[in-house]
Amino acid sequence: MKFEHFGLGLLKGMTVTFRHIFRHPTVNQYPYQRLNVSRRIRGNELVWDKKRCTGCATCAKACPQGAIEIVTGANPVENRYEVRTYRVDTGYCIQCGLCVESCPYDAIFMGYAYERAKYRRRDLVQENDTLLESKERPKSGYFHPEVAAGLPAQTLLVEKIVERKD
Ligand code: SF4
Ligand code: SF4
Repeated sequence: MKFEHFGLGLLKGMTVTFRHIFRHPTVNQYPYQRLNVSRRIRGNELVWDKKRCTGCATCAKACPQGAIEIVTGANPVENRYEVRTYRVDTGYCIQCGLCVESCPYDAIFMGYAYERAKYRRRDLVQENDTLLESKERPKSGYFHPEVAAGLPAQTLLVEKIVERKD
């Protein structure tokens, strides 16, 4: 062991410590502060466009988890085929995005949310109107650059933290 540089390591360590003391913190006060996530996030929910959906079930067939269930039927009054139930069990969903990629009519999108913890298993199931897009349930730009273009840019720096209003 050499002692000629005794204290040098300690000095170096303290230099690093001091440098970080005066830097802006790199952690945020979640959930009161949060970063914008990627515009192409595969969030833990799906957003369904009821008007565009034909009920072809391509998405359900593409799902490796069997998380999508679709019930269709004839509507004799309007003389058309319609989707009666579009159900997603997000408890089984692995957010792979295959349903989104396979839809030939751009009727299903990954959601933007990542905070959907529930106390009850059944609350993870979403269907019909609970799958529609809203202010609280925006579409993710995953596989849809035209959607991503309208979303806020991802923030990685703590200076760009988004303050929660509530
Ligand atoms: S979401 Fe797309 S793939 Fe799925 S049933 Fe509707 S149109 Fe077909
Ligand atoms: S994201 Fe993947 S696992 Fe989830 S519903 Fe779509 S295909 Fe199934």
